[in-house]
Amino acid sequence: MTLTPEQLAQIEEERAAQRPTRRAVSEGMEAHLYTAYPVLDHGFIRVIDYMGDDAAICQAARVSYGRGTKSVQNDEGLIRYLMRHWHSTPFEMCEIKLHVKLPVFVARQWIRHRTANVNEYSARYSILDREFYVPEPDALAAQSSTNNQGRGAVLQGEEAARVLDILKRDANRAYDHYEEMLGTDGQQGLARELARMNLPASIYTQWYWKTDLHNLLHFLRLRADSHAQMEIRVYAEAIAKCVKDWVPAAYAAFEDYRMGGATLSAGALGCLRRMLDGETVTQETSGMSKGEWREFEAILARR
Ligand SMILES: Cc1cc2nc3c(=O)[nH]c(=O)nc-3n(C[C@H](O)[C@H](O)[C@H](O)COP(=O)(O)OP(=O)(O)OC[C@H]3O[C@@H](n4cnc5c(N)ncnc54)[C@H](O)[C@@H]3O)c2cc1C
Repeated sequence: MTLTPEQLAQIEEERAAQRPTRRAVSEGMEAHLYTAYPVLDHGFIRVIDYMGDDAAICQAARVSYGRGTKSVQNDEGLIRYLMRHWHSTPFEMCEIKLHVKLPVFVARQWIRHRTANVNEYSARYSILDREFYVPEPDALAAQSSTNNQGRGAVLQGEEAARVLDILKRDANRAYDHYEEMLGTDGQQGLARELARMNLPASIYTQWYWKTDLHNLLHFLRLRADSHAQMEIRVYAEAIAKCVKDWVPAAYAAFEDYRMGGATLSAGALGCLRRMLDGETVTQETSGMSKGEWREFEAILARR
């Protein structure tokens, strides 16, 4: 994470300021406000602002006139009920605004989550920094032979060194040319909006990203999942830590029903019932495809 002393001082200044407010405040989230948490080699996430807390979800669900009309246990029970029954609009009453610094190829996956408001750093207006994502050696893996969308064993020795060298050399060469095209002394220089087009997808960009809790949890469900690419998953995990402190009851319900829970098809449920009745069910007798059966077995697998 490369923050200048001036940027760090600005963050500290914001963190030191105190303002009285009548708004709902989450003490857990107050502790995170403005702090930049490092992600990957140059990235970070930081919470810029938020609205609401666990009580705000219940307040909206009850369409109540005040706060804290019921006990904390009641609130937790209500939140679990809402999560369990996909009654999602009360979760939309909470909002979060994040400042994220991330490689462009991660941003391309992230931006697919359309239910958010985004404002990105302008490379038409400003010159991008010489900052590229270069994977740690343990993240430098071969193409998976079983999963077309995944990676397999970690590259070793000479091959790993060669790949790292190519990544660094290509990125730096592209950036050298970027600077060269922007102009040297006595030349007009190419417009920033054009000079950027040769830069690699590993270059870092930044944005402000605002969304509501319902859609944020949907994002975390997909991107903090083990099937998500590691480079976006680490961002989702960093955000999840803040969300856990922001709305602990909602996050606990989310972990229980969404992250830790599983959805079964009618066919899979039928198989499970047959197994509970003592029948030995196999893929051949299950009526499921090989892929479905593999995933079903993974759900049932006990450690
Ligand atoms: C592991 C993984 C692999 C992926 N692989 C690919 C890939 O190979 N290629 C690819 O293109 N994408 C891929 N994606 C992206 C994926 O298809 C979704 O675009 C992305 O996860 C965003 O999900 P979303 O649309 O539900 O989220 P959001 O855009 O945040 O939408 C949230 C929900 O709002 C509703 N919604 C939003 N906009 C609309 C709309 N216009 N019409 C109807 N309903 C809407 C939907 O119910 C949607 O689920 C992948 C995602 C994951 C997690």
